[in-house]
Amino acid sequence: MRHSKEQIYKVTHAFLTQTGSDEYEAHLVADHMLNANLRGHDSHGIGMITMYTDYLKRGQLHPNTPPTLVKDKGSILQFQGNLGYGQRAGYEATAQAIARAKENGICMYTIANCCHLGRIGTYGEQAAAAGMISVHFVNVQNFGTLVAPYCGSEARFGTNPFCLAMPKTDKYGSFILDFATSIVAMGKTRVAHLAGKHFDEPVMLDTAGHPTTDPSVMWQEPRGALMAFAKHKGSGLCWACELMAGILSGGGTIEPSRPRDGSIVNNMTAFVIDPAALTNLEWMRREIDAMNDYVKSSPAPDPVNHPVLMPGEPERIRTADRSAKGVEISEGEWRAIVKTCLDAGVDPSVLE
Ligand code: NAD
Repeated sequence: MRHSKEQIYKVTHAFLTQTGSDEYEAHLVADHMLNANLRGHDSHGIGMITMYTDYLKRGQLHPNTPPTLVKDKGSILQFQGNLGYGQRAGYEATAQAIARAKENGICMYTIANCCHLGRIGTYGEQAAAAGMISVHFVNVQNFGTLVAPYCGSEARFGTNPFCLAMPKTDKYGSFILDFATSIVAMGKTRVAHLAGKHFDEPVMLDTAGHPTTDPSVMWQEPRGALMAFAKHKGSGLCWACELMAGILSGGGTIEPSRPRDGSIVNNMTAFVIDPAALTNLEWMRREIDAMNDYVKSSPAPDPVNHPVLMPGEPERIRTADRSAKGVEISEGEWRAIVKTCLDAGVDPSVLE
């Protein structure tokens, strides 16, 4: 079933206002989630309301709660997320970090203890749109561990995303490298599980530690574990996110004394850099174009199905396609979304 971007926004926005968010927050969060769907990351789109409803009921997600600035040391900004919507905390903290980087050349900023930050590339896009370069390390707390370390069989990490963004040029869109350090994000196992699909290759370990393509191992107790990408390298980056985001934000790592109450709590340590503080912008843009031309000139054996793309390009292609044709959402997932909205008291006419 395909759903238009207008319908996805309307339903998400209605859920958010019905469950306590004011208009400003409902717009920010619904826009973030719609853009995740449009970019092809359904794991962070409208389907997340089926989890947020539970967090709201359990007092683990606080509507209308902005992040608070707890430390301001020139080029360092430290925010407390107060279990508010992470999409709001991420947007507001990134906006302040961009302004500070324009003054000082660089701003390192952290956010501790917000609810789910959503798609981290959103903040990379925000920085890149302001002409900035940004780097983001994120860890995931409270949900329970999901990712096994290289050579381990039990989970010890969250899906700890990493993002690096650079601004666009006249020729190329912005470079947005943004991924979970597990082979797939946890939300992608939810989407596949609800659609009754298996992955093409093993991306998880079952409870006996055997690689499997079956997403249901992540949605039963005891739970299996996601595999980190690229063996020891992805496992190492996942571990780095844990240390960088958990420690520098003050929010903590996922070591076993921390609570595991089932909601997603994120911490982020990020850097916004004004390239104008380091280099001539004309020269930078020429160099980006020359390098992108060079990389893309590498002959692709299957250019129609598998062209050489730069990070951020698949999302731009999918956004154009999905904006025009709508977003494919499985019947299982849409049923869960409708039930969540009706249970929350959303007017049924909004869901038609
Ligand atoms: P993914 O595996 O789809 O990788 C996406 C990245 O790879 C993007 O930068 C994309 O442009 C690039 N890419 C994809 N195909 C490409 C190709 N053919 N050529 C060149 N580049 C290509 O993403 P994922 O790991 O499934 O993560 C999905 C989202 O989940 C991310 O936005 C991430 O921030 C988010 N996430 C959030 C949390 C959280 O706790 N908030 C946790 C994990 C993941």
